[in-house]
Amino acid sequence: MLQAVNLSKNFQKLQVFQNLSLDLQRGEVVALIGPSGSGKSTFLRCLNMMETPSSGQVLYQGASVIPSFRDRGDQIGIGTLRRNVGMVFQHFNLFPHMTVLQNVCEGPISVKRMPKAEAQALGMHFLGLVGLAEKHDSYPSKLSGGQKQRVAIARALAMQPGVLLLDEVTSALDPELVGEVLDVIRTLAREGITMAIVTHEMAFAADVSSRVLFLDKGRIAAEGSPDEIIFNPSDERLSNFVSRTR
Ligand code: ATP
Ligand code: MG
Repeated sequence: MLQAVNLSKNFQKLQVFQNLSLDLQRGEVVALIGPSGSGKSTFLRCLNMMETPSSGQVLYQGASVIPSFRDRGDQIGIGTLRRNVGMVFQHFNLFPHMTVLQNVCEGPISVKRMPKAEAQALGMHFLGLVGLAEKHDSYPSKLSGGQKQRVAIARALAMQPGVLLLDEVTSALDPELVGEVLDVIRTLAREGITMAIVTHEMAFAADVSSRVLFLDKGRIAAEGSPDEIIFNPSDERLSNFVSRTR
């Protein structure tokens, strides 16, 4: 579905990662774990071209992605990629002057030119999925952090992307609000939504993903099932990392 082939990224002299490859299959959930600064966010950002990779290729459904806004022949540009690969961040950035439902419908209406009534029906569907249908008329300032993050997830889903990238969507939340957001992501995984998830929540990563990648010093230092990577880590750095964060 979404592939990275020998992807490398540097910022001037800083080599963030080298030759990373990932083949995210349809319906699969992959968790990316690793120490702070290991390049997890930069890698996710390269997957939807918020950062331009220094070398290597990103492919969406077999078509190579080019760092230009428009498609060119068989190659797809950033616009097409972003309509198909959604991303949710640590800070939810909802529009404060719009209601919850308006926030969720904004993408389908302005980017996909969907008729308003259709976008609203779709928006209500995804608000229902994250358990917030009754808050559709509220403004973001009236919501808790966990609720705001669930709206941000519904907003990404409303674009009906083929793949969802989630970057530490619970790390800015108070501990008591983390669970409700993780529950929503578990629901999405059960619904078969293809996801790549960066998380520091090891128990959650083990629960929700079928494959875990341990990023360390700019390379994939270990890769396998949650059982192999989180519960029975073989490598010493991985073992230390997992036991510190578990
Ligand atoms: P964390 O777990 O703390 O979120 P991370 O694994 O997501 O860390 P990244 O944010 O991808 O790590 O950062 C990897 C490295 O790239 C860091 O050394 C960071 O300082 C550097 N970096 C990230 N973005 C930029 C940028 N725009 N310009 C320069 N350096 C950057
Ligand atoms: Mg990060």
